[in-house]
Amino acid sequence: MVKQTIQIFARVKPPVRKHQQGIYSIDEDEKLIPSLEIILPRDLADGFVNNKRESYKFKFQRIFDQDAKQETIFENIAKPVAGSVLEGYNGTIFAYGQTGSGKTFTITGGAERYSDRGIIPRTLSYIFEQLQKDSSKMYTTHISYLEIYNECGYDLLDPRHEASSLEDLPKVTVLEDPDQNIHLKNLTLHQATTEEEALNLLFLGDTNRMIAETPMNQASTRSHCIFTIHLSSKEPGSATVRHAKLHLVDLAGSERVAKTGVGGHLLTEAKYINLSLHYLEQVIIALSEKHRSHIPYRNSMMTSVLRDSLGGNCMTTMIATLSLEKRNLDESISTCRFAQRVALIKNEAVLNEEIDPRLMIKRLQKEIQELKDELAMVTGEQRTEALTEAELLQLEKLITSFLEDQDPESRLEVGADMRKVHHCFHHLKKLLNDKKIFGNNTVSNTVSSESKDQDCQEPLKEEEYRKLRDILKQRDNEISILSEVMKKLPLSWFERGMREEMSLGRQEAFEIFKRDHADSVTIDDNKQILKQRFSEAKALGESINEARSKIGHLKEEITQRHIQQVALGISENMAVPLMPDQQEEKLRSQLEEEKRRYKTMFTRLKALKVEIEHLQLLMDKAKVKLQKEFEVWWADEATNLQVNSPAVNSLDHTKPFLQTSDSLHEQSQLFSNKSSGGWEVQGQGTGRFDVCDVNARKILPSPCPSPHSQKQSSTSTPLEDSIPKRPMSSIPLTGDSQTDSDILAFIKARQSILQKQCLGSN
Ligand code: ADP
Ligand code: MG
Repeated sequence: MVKQTIQIFARVKPPVRKHQQGIYSIDEDEKLIPSLEIILPRDLADGFVNNKRESYKFKFQRIFDQDAKQETIFENIAKPVAGSVLEGYNGTIFAYGQTGSGKTFTITGGAERYSDRGIIPRTLSYIFEQLQKDSSKMYTTHISYLEIYNECGYDLLDPRHEASSLEDLPKVTVLEDPDQNIHLKNLTLHQATTEEEALNLLFLGDTNRMIAETPMNQASTRSHCIFTIHLSSKEPGSATVRHAKLHLVDLAGSERVAKTGVGGHLLTEAKYINLSLHYLEQVIIALSEKHRSHIPYRNSMMTSVLRDSLGGNCMTTMIATLSLEKRNLDESISTCRFAQRVALIKNEAVLNEEIDPRLMIKRLQKEIQELKDELAMVTGEQRTEALTEAELLQLEKLITSFLEDQDPESRLEVGADMRKVHHCFHHLKKLLNDKKIFGNNTVSNTVSSESKDQDCQEPLKEEEYRKLRDILKQRDNEISILSEVMKKLPLSWFERGMREEMSLGRQEAFEIFKRDHADSVTIDDNKQILKQRFSEAKALGESINEARSKIGHLKEEITQRHIQQVALGISENMAVPLMPDQQEEKLRSQLEEEKRRYKTMFTRLKALKVEIEHLQLLMDKAKVKLQKEFEVWWADEATNLQVNSPAVNSLDHTKPFLQTSDSLHEQSQLFSNKSSGGWEVQGQGTGRFDVCDVNARKILPSPCPSPHSQKQSSTSTPLEDSIPKRPMSSIPLTGDSQTDSDILAFIKARQSILQKQCLGSN
């Protein structure tokens, strides 16, 4: 049993803009318990804190400042938990903090770089590496991935790729058995035998998570995602199975409503956007109070699911993610306060062991048999009938495997039946005699002590060759699997599907959109890296093949050399010289060297494969995101066209719009208004598209900020507000191609107006 309080860590996110950074300091020396001090500027403190406190101090196990790398986070936070899960204890790591503070970045990772991968992929890598190293136990790994939104659970590992909203995913419900154990109905557990399989599951879940999200449901900020690694282990021959679960939890954003609350109330009387986080807090408070007998787990789905993973039998770790920008200081303080309460909870993790009934039956049957045999021996009751043909055969098989078994401790178990014992002795005697005759005829006429040595050495070498051959065969298989994987094009099912459904107009617009999208740089970068990795993998593959054939040749040479030596011994009627053959030694050391080289290259190739797969999946994800953002943008363009274009209003598709200077003026008005309607305009007159307001998920062409439009921004009312938005769902996915080309024309016309404006203002 391991007793400890919940571990709490803090991680500070780098600010989006340096000048928005709030004041804080990290004190690492204070009696070895680090603390974080957040300073509230006096004016801000006046606004909502009664006692005008300016400085808040919080203790954490460790505090990771802005520059902490993902690797450091994994090593310090997740690795110890993963370690105890490998030992058979339950573990939970949850990230808590306001939206945008880095929860997803910490738990899953960033979508751009391989080095940005977060706790989940690194933990999977670590666990599988450890499992491979430990041959003393048999392990089974399963993965599940659950999203909880609005008190409903959804299975993110639905493999059908059909979900376009959360509701399309299988609904998961909580069931409680009479022993108050929680069962999750409909949550699928997928077995993963390798890191690669587990990573694929993670990406399947993440893709479902992303596709299911719409700007309407804001699932990412309001839902909880729980990625669970279920690990079972058993020692060979033992009937005891250990089960351990590791929950990696990305909680909903912890922000509270009523930011403009009456002075003093905000920090104490917090109201949550998310009710289930409120219930989580209640559970945490109850757990941290010593004599509470009732813990209100049942109030929400999330607390029910994490019932055995928060207090009690679990090693639990919390990461408070903090975005310490000036405007977020109050949220950061409440995150830290929550962490302080969490730190009071004491846990007692015990090993979850259970007896496998099938193994138990087998063991008991064996024991009964042994007792019966013992009894027969003691009472001297002998069986009289002869052994059957089948029994004899069975005995001979047993003897053969006993003789082949390299383990000096191995035993020949025939039970306490004297008939069987006698038969074994007879059979062994026969084998020994046969071998003597065989030995005399083939190797030498005199059974010298040297040739006896030779007899002992020969099988050892053969054994070595056999092992080598097996390893080679296994590597061959692995290489062919690897090259299969590498042949796969990184084009996802999603993009293909969407392309086929697009009209030509839309496709063209998509190309424009893609070209100018901020993410395309990342996609291109990743493509470049992928290319490099591919060629490195290819070169490695070739070197591995070379090394393999070298190993083959060396092996052949050694065999030849050996045969020669034996032949020499026979022809000169003498035993193989005791002196080691130098030529053979040389060949052997070359062989060892080649094997080492082979192994190093193979390990590198394996690591490359993981990286390549990760990059491919990142790219797939980026593409899905691009598609989604394109859809939103396209829908907006369609709305704008409908509202603003006389051509569409009059349903006259043939009339080219934006012909008159009036309409041109109208359009430029529209644009200058739009760019002042609360959307930040980025870029410096390059005519490129930028992601403006991330929350609104809008992508706009960013014009050069002309003095004209900026002046207007202060006086005109935002036009955007007056445009009725057409809901996404009413835009058909397979657009009418006529409408599509209208929208495209509209976009192009606007682009050219913008360009003209830019030129004019220069
Ligand atoms: P949350 O899940 O808490 O809403 P995210 O993890 O999505 O927040 O982070 C918001 C943005 O900040 C993302 O673009 C993410 O890549 C970035 N980010 C978060 N933490 C870090 C960090 N430690 N270093 C660099 N970028 C970060
Ligand atoms: Mg998130």
